[in-house]
Amino acid sequence: MKTSILVFGSHNFLATLPDQIHDANTFNLKVISDFNQAVSHIQNVQPDIIFVQTSWKGSIKICSWLKEQNQLSWIHCILIEDRPQQLVKKSQRGWEWEFEMTANALNQGADAYIWLLTEETNDRLTTATKSLILSQLTVGVRKVQKYRDLMNTNDILSAIALADSLTDLNNRRALEWDLPRQINKARTQDISLSLIIIDVDFFKKVNDQHGHLVGDRLLQLLCSRLRHNLRSQDIAFRYGGEEFVVLLPHTNGDEAMTVAERLNRIVREQPFAINSNLHLHITISLGVACFQPDDDEKGMNLLHRADQCLLAAKAAGRNQVIGWEQYSQVSNLEAVS
Ligand code: GH3
Ligand code: MG
Ligand code: MG
Repeated sequence: MKTSILVFGSHNFLATLPDQIHDANTFNLKVISDFNQAVSHIQNVQPDIIFVQTSWKGSIKICSWLKEQNQLSWIHCILIEDRPQQLVKKSQRGWEWEFEMTANALNQGADAYIWLLTEETNDRLTTATKSLILSQLTVGVRKVQKYRDLMNTNDILSAIALADSLTDLNNRRALEWDLPRQINKARTQDISLSLIIIDVDFFKKVNDQHGHLVGDRLLQLLCSRLRHNLRSQDIAFRYGGEEFVVLLPHTNGDEAMTVAERLNRIVREQPFAINSNLHLHITISLGVACFQPDDDEKGMNLLHRADQCLLAAKAAGRNQVIGWEQYSQVSNLEAVS
């Protein structure tokens, strides 16, 4: 992958940088002179390296802005000092001035600070400066590559940590992570959220009659069928053993009941082909509940209501869906009688 470079400053400034950075086979180079355009380019493209022309309006602001962005602060920012008055002061005050200026630049968010020596300086110094700029570019590329590798590894580890190894569904840890976020979204954005909890009926019998490997295969086939029959916004989790949870954002109680009835039907109506000789019929029981404004922020109330519905579905003979409305009506009637 090519390294992407943003030069924040003028085209004249770009011309003073080493020729190598114009190599289109190695770098994607973009020059932007306007602060707001540079900010939106950084946000959208996330370049690896930024060269900043110090004399340009907004130069220090862009370095400090970058380092305040949690998601972008890894971008390597090289500040190139080209202000003539600073160069004069440097020649008058020498090392002390150079060190002070470097410390300032680093404190303000730059990752490197290089004096651009041109015109009045001799060729050897100009060559040395360009070679320093290229070395800083190499340091930046190395650092950014390590950061990107780390993020890739991080993504892989997160995927492993949040996936169930048998069924490939999101696991319970993923649910514990996602449910509070969905609850928060439902509360703050005033959108509906429903939850379905599913349990396979008499699954122990499958293991007892056909062995655990067949039981495992059946769980895989069941999950695949459930997943293919959910809408893209719905998220399925393996809650444990032969129990599953589906989160349905933007879904009210009636809509969630329709989804649950459909899942019940697609499991009941078609047997699962374990192999060419073994086709197993199973059924599932489902409990459905909706987010209510006084629910706790972790989603325990919501899960609990769905679970009560599931237990009621089991008690009522299995292979059916019970929603919270239906459950509470029956409970109220029982309480009255
Ligand atoms: P009910 O209708 O009341 O839910 O009956 P059930 O038999 O499904 O429920 P029970 O809780 O008695 O048994 C669940 C079984 O699921 C027992 C357990 O061995 C099996 N199980 C849980 N996880 C796995 C798994 O990963 N693979 C296999 N093969 N079996 C599993
Ligand atoms: Mg169970
Ligand atoms: Mg069961």
